[in-house]
Amino acid sequence: MSSEIYDAQKLLAEIGEMDVGNVSLMEVCGTHTMAIAKSGLRNVLPENIKLLSGPGCPVCVTPPEVIDAILDLSMQKNIIIATYGDMIKVPGSVHGENLAKSRALGARVEVVYSPLDAVRLAEENPSYEVIFLGAGFETTAPGTAVAIGAASEKRLRNFSVFSMLKTVEPALRALIADDGFNVRGFLCPGHVATIIGEEGFRFLAEKFKIPCVIGGFEPHEILMAVYMLLRQIESGEPKVENAYPQAVKSNGNPLAVNMIRKYLTLRRDIWRGLGEIDMSGLGICDEYAEFDAERKFDIKIKPPKETSPCLCGDVICGRIYAHECPLFGKVCTPENPVGPCMVSGEGACAAAYKYGGQ
Ligand code: SF4
Repeated sequence: MSSEIYDAQKLLAEIGEMDVGNVSLMEVCGTHTMAIAKSGLRNVLPENIKLLSGPGCPVCVTPPEVIDAILDLSMQKNIIIATYGDMIKVPGSVHGENLAKSRALGARVEVVYSPLDAVRLAEENPSYEVIFLGAGFETTAPGTAVAIGAASEKRLRNFSVFSMLKTVEPALRALIADDGFNVRGFLCPGHVATIIGEEGFRFLAEKFKIPCVIGGFEPHEILMAVYMLLRQIESGEPKVENAYPQAVKSNGNPLAVNMIRKYLTLRRDIWRGLGEIDMSGLGICDEYAEFDAERKFDIKIKPPKETSPCLCGDVICGRIYAHECPLFGKVCTPENPVGPCMVSGEGACAAAYKYGGQ
């Protein structure tokens, strides 16, 4: 028996003996969402411990009206949309409309693996405007900032960023303010914490008295984080604990934070499921406005074109489990996704469809 299995059994036994009542814990990271589903962790925890998914999947939190704007942009002449692969099949507000369809209709949509690939694409295609779709949280924001810096140094005139970047803290504050919020502990995202550090989550324990553990991504690391959260709940002493010290430092990565501050700026933003939240998105600083696709192409976000029956907004706020959506696995599947949670490799619906469970 490996020591990890032995430790897992020991932790599960101790969790089973804890006197915590019914407890809902929430992860706010798409990688945690997938890892929890894949490991079957929900099935081995006692029935009184629920694991909910929060707004941690970048593609899933992007609202349909923003996808609509990207689809319109993709059909303009001499445009190359450079994007991470996850975004290709994300539907806008009309079912079936996505970048894959734009591509089939003649748009140039290129999958890139880093923002600097998009800068290279712009250098190689001087007669096209290359628009990089910058999605993600504090984890991916430094890479996007570096790309803007590189384009500026190279004096590229045909590169811009459509920023959908968001920050985690305002979303957590909005969730906590949500009617019916009853999460008693947050499994905080290890990736984001590498940038903003333990300090970035201290508000949870200090202001809201909610336990917070920064966790790694292996099943035994997640189980340990769950155990630590429950221990805090049992003791009634909420704090921020770091169960991922090999990657996360107390103050995060100041160099990466400085890159974000140099090129990006906080702004009001729209979240699927949470609506508009002040200072929750990262737009491009005025000094680098020439690399801001929204300003360059005067993009205005319009209201959604039709009302979607997709309940992703409720899934990513932990209000329902993926399988509770009436479309789950029937009308909505990875082959025919109705919403982004079924498309993304980090989406709660895709995770539940692939691995079963909630
Ligand atoms: Fe949306 Fe499909 Fe998930 Fe339902 S199953 S919430 S339609 S992505």
